[in-house]
Amino acid sequence: MESKSDSLIAYNVLEKKIINSGFCTLCGACEAACPVSAIQIEGEKVRRLHDCSKDLDLCPICYGICPHSEALLLRSLRFVSDAPIRNEELGYYRKIVLAQAVDPKLREQSHGGAVVTSLLTYGVKKKVFDSAIVSQAEPENPAKPKPAVAVVPDDILSAVGSKFFPSAVAQAYGSAVYGYGKTKIAFVGVPCHVLALRKMEAWQHKISDNLKIAIGLFCFGTFSLSPLLEHITKAYKIKPSDIKRMLLSSKFVIQTEKDVIRIPLSEIKDHIMPSCRTCTDFTAELADISVGGAYPLKDWSTVIIRTKAGEDFFYDAVENGVINTWVIEQEPNVIERVMVAAMQKRTSALKEAKKMEEVYGFLPVLLLRESDALAQIKVEEVMTKNIKTVPRDITVSQLLDLIAKYHHIAYPVIDENGEPIGTVTLEEASKVEKAKRKDTLVGHITRRELVVAYPGETALDAFKRMEEHEIGRILVLDPADPKKLLGMITKTDLMHILVNNVENT
Ligand SMILES: Cc1cc2nc3c(=O)[nH]c(=O)nc-3n(C[C@H](O)[C@H](O)[C@H](O)COP(=O)(O)OP(=O)(O)OC[C@H]3O[C@@H](n4cnc5c(N)ncnc54)[C@H](O)[C@@H]3O)c2cc1C
Ligand code: SF4
Ligand code: SF4
Ligand code: SF4
Repeated sequence: MESKSDSLIAYNVLEKKIINSGFCTLCGACEAACPVSAIQIEGEKVRRLHDCSKDLDLCPICYGICPHSEALLLRSLRFVSDAPIRNEELGYYRKIVLAQAVDPKLREQSHGGAVVTSLLTYGVKKKVFDSAIVSQAEPENPAKPKPAVAVVPDDILSAVGSKFFPSAVAQAYGSAVYGYGKTKIAFVGVPCHVLALRKMEAWQHKISDNLKIAIGLFCFGTFSLSPLLEHITKAYKIKPSDIKRMLLSSKFVIQTEKDVIRIPLSEIKDHIMPSCRTCTDFTAELADISVGGAYPLKDWSTVIIRTKAGEDFFYDAVENGVINTWVIEQEPNVIERVMVAAMQKRTSALKEAKKMEEVYGFLPVLLLRESDALAQIKVEEVMTKNIKTVPRDITVSQLLDLIAKYHHIAYPVIDENGEPIGTVTLEEASKVEKAKRKDTLVGHITRRELVVAYPGETALDAFKRMEEHEIGRILVLDPADPKKLLGMITKTDLMHILVNNVENT
């Protein structure tokens, strides 16, 4: 049991629940936000420099803003929640496009379209930002990210490409504000980095006023640096200093001066950081602009534009000839892959989180829980009406075209009489072999269990039913005519209620 004084000083909870439980991803936000400089990231550890409880009776900051604590999550979502589209797997957004740097040399050096580097250099040159927080490579250990405050384009160019290890970018953000006096900062990080920054904003921490734009990277996970490098040295006789470049595709690829080694992901999956196993966010859902791969296209990135600020800045760069764009709906394979990756990450994270709860006695991060707010809202107030349904006799290929066009991952399936017989999701469709998609009918992969709610029930009733059946959405039927479909509710809709509820309190 925590004593009262323990919980009044956030560090005690941070240490117990996050640091000692192995959930820290070394972002450095606690260091940047601490009012008495009591925390420091040193190498691969968070160090307490002095006991802050000697100076303060109460301080909730470091645990609250840590991206792996539950605090401030709903408040953080409000930075993106005015976007017109709300998607079960991709979060809130305005637009999704394919993009690439116009400069081909830049694209060669990156893992995608070098969109991030181009946007940052453009923003710094045009003085939209006075600095950018990037992750360069340590000169003596190129695999290791070196968080840096970039003030000129060359600093940004030297950070091109992804490094698959933790980078204390939030610590660098703190240095940009305190050390360099920067006031218009562009920030780049993986989803948990962006969440840490948003939590600071939600907390109204004074350094958060200096954030101009947050660019998020898609992220499946990061590796623990020393354990993975030790494995590589032992198994492949490659010293960290010999590594020139690391790439991630279906294998983990290591390039040295003389050689290229391809390591199967199954061999190194145990070195992924524990927090990544319970992380539900693939596409950096709280960023102004999120950027990720566009497999199978080479040289392109997928860009999800979420906020008005992000949209204005992105299209300014497009209009000024820095970035090329292309319509993602023309590339159904790309959008399918992004949505499947997001869905798989979320599903496996939620399963893992439940297991971890049994081990640690708490869930690291879970956005949606039973709450009084859900009990106050009726299903009819939150359900989506006029939903798109699909007949059971269309093919899986046709369904995937609809998914690519509308970006919805689930559809009620109807029979010849227009009556609902179940639901079909991207999950089932993506499991059908590519060669068989043109000949397989949706009726064959429909989940026939009809889990339903009625307009007069509460959102809490609907949520409990979704939990019980381990599904993310529920059909709403007319109680007077139970074959008549009125709408659908998803967990994302319920979350939206909670976000608005927090905003209005
Ligand atoms: C750990 C990690 C996992 C990723 N997993 C996926 C994935 O599963 N699927 C997918 O589609 N995309 C993933 N990405 C994103 C992808 O690798 C590209 O970063 C993204 O597509 C942007 O490409 P770009 O060419 O526009 O970026 P670039 O123009 O090359 O710029 C990359 C930027 O990323 C920053 N950066 C590099 N490493 C880190 C780091 N460790 N932490 C914080 N910032 C960093 C650099 O500062 C640089 O500004 C991952 C990225 C990282 C860092
Ligand atoms: S003073 Fe610093 S270390 Fe102590 S609880 Fe507050 S933020 Fe955490
Ligand atoms: S704020 Fe970041 S560095 Fe601090 S404990 Fe949390 S994850 Fe680790
Ligand atoms: S998977 Fe999640 S917790 Fe892990 S590094 Fe990526 S964003 Fe952070």
